[in-house]
Amino acid sequence: MKKEIDNKLNLKNINPTAMRQLVLQVLTEQKTAISLPELEQKFEKADKATLYRTLKTFQEHQLIHSIEDGSGSLRYALCEDFCTCEPEHLHVHFLCNKCGKTYCMKDLPVPQPDLPNGFEFSSANFVVKGICSNCKK
Ligand SMILES: [Zn+2]
Ligand SMILES: [Zn+2]
Ligand SMILES: [Zn+2]
Repeated sequence: MKKEIDNKLNLKNINPTAMRQLVLQVLTEQKTAISLPELEQKFEKADKATLYRTLKTFQEHQLIHSIEDGSGSLRYALCEDFCTCEPEHLHVHFLCNKCGKTYCMKDLPVPQPDLPNGFEFSSANFVVKGICSNCKK
């Protein structure tokens, strides 16, 4: 597992510090996107600024992407290995109204809008809301 973590960091040109390894480990174990406060709870002893900087570094290197789920707080989820966070790599996110979890719908690309002449598409935040399959059971 440790090797896998280092490989992922290497792939995105991130120096594998101990902190980064630990944070990536946690992110890898998450099935849904995680918020900074949730991450802080898992690292009670870690400095909050360090955690935040780690997320920022990950995001700058396209290892993770952030999601505005409409609740006012950002959530973070792992990117696919090939992801460069360009518009063509964006996918739909799903916010469950019941458990409040945010899922990456990696197989659902964000539809590319047909913009008027002179407008360029660079990013989109496509959040679908409903009841997730876990809550539906
Ligand atoms: Zn990405
Ligand atoms: Zn749910
Ligand atoms: Zn996602």
